[in-house]
Amino acid sequence: KSVVAIVGRPNVGKSTIFNRLVGERISIVEDTPGVTRDRIYAEAEWLTTTFNLIDTGGIEMSDEPLLVQMRHQAEIAIDEADVIIFMVNGQEGITAADDEVAKILYKSNKPVVLGVNKIDNPEMRETIYDYYTLGFGEPHPISGAHGLGLGDLLDTVVGYFPEQQDEVQDEDTIYFSVIGRPNVGKSSLVNALLNEERVIVSDVEGTTREAIDTRLRNDDQDFVIIDTAGMRKRGKVYEAAEKYSVLRALKAIERSDVVLTLIDAETGIQEQDKKIAGYAHEAGKAIIIVVNKWDTVDKDEKTMKEFEKKVRSHFQYLDYAPIVFLSAKTKKRLHTLIPALKTASENHAKRVPTNVLNDVIMDSLALNPTPTVKGKRLKVLYATQVAVKPPTFVIFVNDPALMHFSYKRFLENRIREAFGFVGSPINIFARKR
Ligand code: GDP
Repeated sequence: KSVVAIVGRPNVGKSTIFNRLVGERISIVEDTPGVTRDRIYAEAEWLTTTFNLIDTGGIEMSDEPLLVQMRHQAEIAIDEADVIIFMVNGQEGITAADDEVAKILYKSNKPVVLGVNKIDNPEMRETIYDYYTLGFGEPHPISGAHGLGLGDLLDTVVGYFPEQQDEVQDEDTIYFSVIGRPNVGKSSLVNALLNEERVIVSDVEGTTREAIDTRLRNDDQDFVIIDTAGMRKRGKVYEAAEKYSVLRALKAIERSDVVLTLIDAETGIQEQDKKIAGYAHEAGKAIIIVVNKWDTVDKDEKTMKEFEKKVRSHFQYLDYAPIVFLSAKTKKRLHTLIPALKTASENHAKRVPTNVLNDVIMDSLALNPTPTVKGKRLKVLYATQVAVKPPTFVIFVNDPALMHFSYKRFLENRIREAFGFVGSPINIFARKR
């Protein structure tokens, strides 16, 4: 998927435009407490094209001087985006900060589409010609507040997208990524896996993307580790670990079947860990929580149970994710990772027979009668699995509004108990029949 970044001074209206473009998706209330809300990256749609949109303004939290912030923002956009929307404020004219951004963007060779915001009525359009001097061709008048001009802007943006090369993923290969905050041991884990005796490693050839993947084979099972650039040791030269980029992790997550989300046992669970894991969860990927640096912990027979409890309370929405304790450094317990990967991947792609599914649903109804809202009782007619990766079920009912979150959760648990979806999220939707 192509990536579009919106760059511009504070208060030019980036977030308003961002929310408009992302539309309903962003306001969907999710059932998952604890998942990050401060999105800076979301999926947007224009006509038949979906793309990922970055609000670089949302990344900035520092109290650095404006020009420094702007430069930083522009650099992120240049690194991450295929097309950049440069937004200026049509009611204020061109400022020094705009010029600064323009200079950086100009040198980047990335396509830049100029949006002049706050052009709320047609009379104001005459002023936009001034903005030609920024050097990015035709300025596009828009009004984020009124939703005007966005169509034309997006037509231009989409026109710059590189040819979509849909990645052909091999059905029998397990694609996984390794994510986590800096220093949790991502590189160490990747290298430890690749140096296992029974693993055969080869670089993935012929991919046009900038991400470098690594292929490995273990006991007749093929794996691809997504985006290992900067993680692998090349000969004796240890590449400097790149600055960890959330956006980069998101791209890797998108291409994965299974995501290994790493936690550092030495430093414990931190806020950023939850955010990063939250992205994998929202993407509907199979997830394994890997507690690394287990060698640093003084252990007795209760340590693991206690740590597990802590993980569970911090990552409540990841109750389906198994926890693997290991040390990338000493390789202790490393062998438990491959089987966990296989299981999670199988469950993520699992299809259950419709008749068995319906038996489970009917048994559940007998066990726990459906709720009644304002005198109206939920009737469940039948269920069917409509998708895999993640397994997605539609339950046909008399009125979806009667399907309480708690009842849905109950059905989900019953389905999980019956079929075992360890490692994988499952989705359940109620539909009117
Ligand atoms: P990354 O930034 O997530 O890729 O983290 P690195 O793989 O570069 O590891 C960060 C630091 O943690 C390095 O000094 C590693 O040697 C150390 N480290 C990684 N895994 C382990 C482990 O299992 N045990 C211990 N004690 N140290 C580890």
